[in-house]
Amino acid sequence: MRDSFFANTELIGLIGHPIKHSYSPFIQNYALEAMGVDCVYLPFDVVAENLKSSVTSVLALGLKGLNVTLPHKEKIIKYLDELSEEASIIGAVNTVVNDHGKLIGYNTDANGIIETLLPFKDKIVGTKVTVIGAGGSARAVIYTLLRYFKPEEINIINRTQQRADTLMNYFSMKMRYDSFHTFELFPPDNAKVLSNSRLIINSTTIGMFPEIEDTITDIEESFNEDQIVFDLIYNPKKTKFLRMAEEQGAKAIGGMTMLISQAAKSFQLWTEAEMPVVEITKKLEDYISKNSR
Ligand code: NAP
Repeated sequence: MRDSFFANTELIGLIGHPIKHSYSPFIQNYALEAMGVDCVYLPFDVVAENLKSSVTSVLALGLKGLNVTLPHKEKIIKYLDELSEEASIIGAVNTVVNDHGKLIGYNTDANGIIETLLPFKDKIVGTKVTVIGAGGSARAVIYTLLRYFKPEEINIINRTQQRADTLMNYFSMKMRYDSFHTFELFPPDNAKVLSNSRLIINSTTIGMFPEIEDTITDIEESFNEDQIVFDLIYNPKKTKFLRMAEEQGAKAIGGMTMLISQAAKSFQLWTEAEMPVVEITKKLEDYISKNSR
């Protein structure tokens, strides 16, 4: 860590509630220092009633920008001056740039998803895809699939099927796509839907540390060797769901590439510099393995 801060040191904030679990301060401060950017990144625990004043403070105090996490990703939109295309369609913002007094909202989760799936694009285009979950990250997943990967069909499986239906109706209208099917998350019935999918994406919290023995399904027939299975969870590095998919021959991908890639895109928006992603991935994996016991 640097010895001292000077009058020109700039500030980027992270707002959310709760905020203590976030790895973003680790990632961003490491990158700022590695790239010699005179700036620090600090988390602020902001409750809902202080959201508006915290956004006003970005301008009053001259912050370079913000990362935004739960529960403010949607509600912050009304306080911003402009939205990027993906933030506007996804309906959520995770990055704000203070562009000379104008606040612009972006959703860099979409970049994280693109970077993760791009090596498999040829295998995904025109095939059946299943998204498990219907929360905020599922919105970014569905936007990215429709915009960049053109699947033949998208199944949405969720514990609360009504939320899956809401998502289907929203994207059918917004992105003019009518090949959706929704299902309730209920493992014995889901095996056939999963096994017929070339790509399966978990965007729920099932299997996340410390509940690492939880899994969406324990039916081996859900998986096969032609599949790509992507779990957004990055702690643990490989969830039980991914381990099972891998045992059946599927290509299993964890959420670390997405985590670092979305952070790298935010970093670039604020600083115009490239994050040293390989070095930071290694540092973060070491850090998580030491702090997750
Ligand atoms: P969210 O908006 O709160 O959505 C949570 C989803 O999980 C909902 O679909 C919810 O179903 C489902 N769910 C929660 N508990 C469940 C349970 N016990 N059984 C069945 N379903 C359950 O959360 P989010 O922001 O989308 O994040 C979801 C996951 O993605 C988290 O693990 C997060 O760490 C990960 N993520 C990773 C990255 C990355 O960079 N790698 C980025 C964003 C998110 P209901 O609708 O029925 O409540």
